[in-house]
Amino acid sequence: SGIRLQDPTLLRQQCYIDGAWVDADQGATIVVENPANGAAIGSVPKMGRAETRRAIDAAAAAMPAWQTKSGKERAAILRKWFDLLLANQEDLAVIMTTEQGKPLAESRGEIAYAASYVEWFAEEAKRVYGDTIPAPTSDRRIVVIKQPVGVCAAITPWNFPAAMITRKAAPALAAGCTMVVKPASQTPFSALALCVLAERAGIPRGVLSCVTGSATEIGSELTANPTVRKLTFTGSTEIGKLLIQQCAATVKKTSMELGGNAPFIVFDDADLDAAVKGAMIAKYRNAGQTCVCANRILVQEGVYDAFVERFAAAVCALKVGHGLEAGTVIGPLIDANAVGKAEEHVADAVQKGGRIVVGGKRHALGGNFYAPTILADATPDMAIFREETFSPVAPIFRFKTEEEAIRMANDTEFGLASYFYGRDIGRVWRVAEALEYGMVGINEGLISTELAPFGGIKESGNGREGSKYGIQDYLEIKYLCMGGI
Ligand code: ADP
Repeated sequence: SGIRLQDPTLLRQQCYIDGAWVDADQGATIVVENPANGAAIGSVPKMGRAETRRAIDAAAAAMPAWQTKSGKERAAILRKWFDLLLANQEDLAVIMTTEQGKPLAESRGEIAYAASYVEWFAEEAKRVYGDTIPAPTSDRRIVVIKQPVGVCAAITPWNFPAAMITRKAAPALAAGCTMVVKPASQTPFSALALCVLAERAGIPRGVLSCVTGSATEIGSELTANPTVRKLTFTGSTEIGKLLIQQCAATVKKTSMELGGNAPFIVFDDADLDAAVKGAMIAKYRNAGQTCVCANRILVQEGVYDAFVERFAAAVCALKVGHGLEAGTVIGPLIDANAVGKAEEHVADAVQKGGRIVVGGKRHALGGNFYAPTILADATPDMAIFREETFSPVAPIFRFKTEEEAIRMANDTEFGLASYFYGRDIGRVWRVAEALEYGMVGINEGLISTELAPFGGIKESGNGREGSKYGIQDYLEIKYLCMGGI
């Protein structure tokens, strides 16, 4: 595979189903490539409906014992998983960079971030509180208890190959649910390595299974099978809508973390250096391939030129390269399609009057590398105003008034993350309340943490991951009415 690991057993080319490492029924496989150079890393099973059904059956069989453990007992097991994730941080980071492309420092950060959800929800397993409610008559008592939703399915994307899994699996398992995960076919090795460590941590067989292979086949079984009570998905709005439709037939609960079109607003009274620093991280993290990446930078006219100048200086200094090379801050995009989309967005913008300040083309390294780009004089008629670019292209729009900024920011069907920079306290409140988004970074460009509720509104999805709210997505409310007292 060309991957050098301290513990080579973390790299698995089989799926983990019902506590066993298995191949596809027909032996089919999918080759996984390194996006930095196109080299084959290895292969994983190409599974379909039959294997998925077995993983679901195993998850159902594991439910009774897992659910009747106390929260404290589940917490102890999850805590071991957390410890193992951190103990193997370096190997997990190397696997991630090799299959996903992000710089090693970002992969290390993602493993710590992924682990933080396991730690947090291990703790929350002990805090699944119910309620008592005063009854309407004195011969009754009303009690509310919380119970696990049941067998859950997760479909996850390639941009955060570890964290998008732990964010779902940790609260599910903490709540007493069991789960079948289908990772993205570009990044299955990170998912399988998480399973190796889950097994070592003592998570019982069937409680967490991982099925790689055909998205449509696995997805259709996960959504059609009546045993699955909940689907949690992170990915595109297009596929999210399809999955919601498929889940309707069996009325499954869904949690959806879908696309974004984050505005990043810089007001005249902003601390410009802080805004540039925030924009760098909000735009260029993971080469622009996160659903909370700044997609549209809106700058007030009085500071527009100064912002563009300072931002350009910072972007010129970004080192593009292979993620395992020391000093790399921008890796390759995930595949050729991603590069094509960046090229289309830039060509469309230039044709409509956009001005390239930095980049604007493929990077000299070739392959999937695209140069970090700044497009000034961007206007709302450009495709990039409406579409999530998922690339290191930063279009900068101009606005005059606070009202105009809010109108532009909200002029989208998406509502995931948003950001603004300004110091006036009245404006901070007005804008924070007016932005139609699930998350608002105020003088901050990096807001994700396991302690806070991550999620979107409008067509960016439903449900929240992380925080005390995150575990509620995996719990049912049961009302007990006790009479005859
Ligand atoms: P992206 O554009 O970020 O790759 P997608 O929404 O296409 O996002 O993919 C996210 C996840 O959804 C991946 O695991 C992918 O394999 C899966 N997926 C894609 N198409 C389908 C489908 N029709 N049914 C179920 N899962 C799908």
